[in-house]
Amino acid sequence: MSSTEARPVRVRFAPSPTGKLHVGGARTAIYNWAFARANHGTFILRIDDTDPTRSTEENTQIILRAMKWLGLDWDEGPEVGGDFGPYWQTERLDIYRKAAERLVADGRAYYCFCTPEKLAADKKAAQERHDPFQGYQRTCRDIDPAEAQRRVDAGEPHTIRIKVPLDRGDVVVRDAVHGDVTFEANTLDDFIIFRSDGTPTYNFATVVDDSMMGITHVIRGDDHLSNTPRQIMVYEALGAPTPTFAHISMILGPDGKKLSKRHGATSVEEYRDAGYDSDAFVNYLALLGWALDGDTTIVPRDVLAKSFSLDHVSKNPATFDLKKLDWINGQYLQAMTDQEFARTQLVPQLVSAGLESAADAEAAYAAKPAWFDLLASVLKPRTTLAPQVVEKSRFLYWGEDVQFDEKSVNKNLAKDGARGYLEAARDALAALDADGWNAAAIDAALEPLPDALGTNKRKFYGAVRVAECGNQVSPPLGESLELLGRDVALARLERALPLAK
Ligand code: GLU
Repeated sequence: MSSTEARPVRVRFAPSPTGKLHVGGARTAIYNWAFARANHGTFILRIDDTDPTRSTEENTQIILRAMKWLGLDWDEGPEVGGDFGPYWQTERLDIYRKAAERLVADGRAYYCFCTPEKLAADKKAAQERHDPFQGYQRTCRDIDPAEAQRRVDAGEPHTIRIKVPLDRGDVVVRDAVHGDVTFEANTLDDFIIFRSDGTPTYNFATVVDDSMMGITHVIRGDDHLSNTPRQIMVYEALGAPTPTFAHISMILGPDGKKLSKRHGATSVEEYRDAGYDSDAFVNYLALLGWALDGDTTIVPRDVLAKSFSLDHVSKNPATFDLKKLDWINGQYLQAMTDQEFARTQLVPQLVSAGLESAADAEAAYAAKPAWFDLLASVLKPRTTLAPQVVEKSRFLYWGEDVQFDEKSVNKNLAKDGARGYLEAARDALAALDADGWNAAAIDAALEPLPDALGTNKRKFYGAVRVAECGNQVSPPLGESLELLGRDVALARLERALPLAK
C-alpha cells in the first residue's frame, strides 16, 4: 500500500523538546500548518520526548509558547487533545511495546541477543573482507521463535530487530520535494526497533505514531531523508500505508554553512523578544524554500493558508537573510492602521521599556487611546522594528525636566539669538488655549516666526526642538508638542531659556 491521496490530509509537527524552537523547526511547523489549512486537513502537534536525558517540560512549554506566538494553531495535540492521543511519546511507550511484540508474533521482527562485543567484531570482520553488506549480519534472525521467547522470559538482554525481507530490493522514497530517491538494498539491514532498555528507537516510534495517527504527509527537514527508507520498512512491516514524504531543505547562514548560533539568533523566542511582528516573521520563514510565484514577497497568513503547496517547495537550501526579514517586518508595520500599530507594537514596547507603568499594554492603551494613536501616526513611518519606538518616545516621559543632549544644546541653543527664538515661540504658543492645542494649530502658530525674527527655519526650529525634546532626533515638532501637552510644552521652553544665548 502506498497511495494516501484519497485519505483526508493529516499532518504533524513533531518537535523533540531538547531545546527551544529554532527557525528551521518553525519553518517545518509553518509548512505543515499551511499544508493542512490549504487542504482542509488536520494539523497535529506531537511532542517527541522519548529522549529522557535531553527532553524537558520547560522546553515543551517554550515550544508551545513559540507555536502560539507564531499563530500556528493545532487541531490535535497538547492542550487541545484529540482522538488519536496521547500526543506525548513518553505516554505511548506501551503502544510501542505492543506494536513491536505484534511484529515479533507476526514474524516481521525478531529478538536479537547479540552483545555489543559480538556486533563490533562482526562489523570489523565485514570491513576486513570488504563485504558490500556492512550492516547487521542477521545472526539472530533464524533463532527458533519458541527458543527466542524462552531466552527473553529467562531475562536475557535483548533488542528487537525488524526483519527486512531478503528480496525487498532497493527502497525508493517518493519525495514530493526531492523526487524519487533510491536507497540501495544493501544499505538496509535488520535495524533495531526496540532497545535492550525497553525504549523504542526514533524510526520505530515515529512510524507507529504516524501510522496510528493517520498521517498522510510527512513534511520535515531533509536531515531525516536518510531515515526514511528504514521508516518505510516499518510501515511495510506494520502493513500500514506509507505517507507522502516531503523533505525540506536546510536553512543556511550567509556564509553558506548550516544556520547556527554562530550566525546570531536561531530561536523563535529571540526574534519575538527582538520585537519582530509574528505575521511578518511567519511570512519571511515561509519564503525560505517556498514561493507563491516568482516574486511575491508579501504573503499574508491567510494567503499562505490558502495557497501553500508542496510543488512550490524548493529542494535547494535557503539562506537566512536578516535584511530581508527586517524589510518584510517594515512592510507589515506600514500596512497597519495607526491604531493597530499602537496596540501591537508601540504600546507593548513602551510598557516593556518601563516608560508606561500600566500593568499591561491593553490597560496602558485603554488609558489614552487617542494619544497613542497620534504617537503611532508619527512613529510608524519611521519604524521597521518595534523597539525603535522606545528611544523616539522617551522625550515624552520626562515631564518638565528635559534630559538634554549636550551636542544638540551646543549646536542649537547655545547660539546667539536662540533665546529670542524660544521667547517668541513661547509667546505664540501661549496664545493657543488648551482646546486648540493640536499639531496643525501649533505649526501654524510657529510658522511665521523665523521670518519675523529675521532668521532661518533651521536655526529657529533647531532651538525650539532641542528646548522641547532635548535632542534633534525627535518626531515632527507640531505632533511632538501636541503629545507633550500645552503645560509641559510651555514649561519646557521656559526652563530652556537659561541655556540659550
Ligand atoms: N522529533 C523529530 C525531530 O525533531 C521529528 C522528526 C520527524 O518529523 O519525523 O527531528
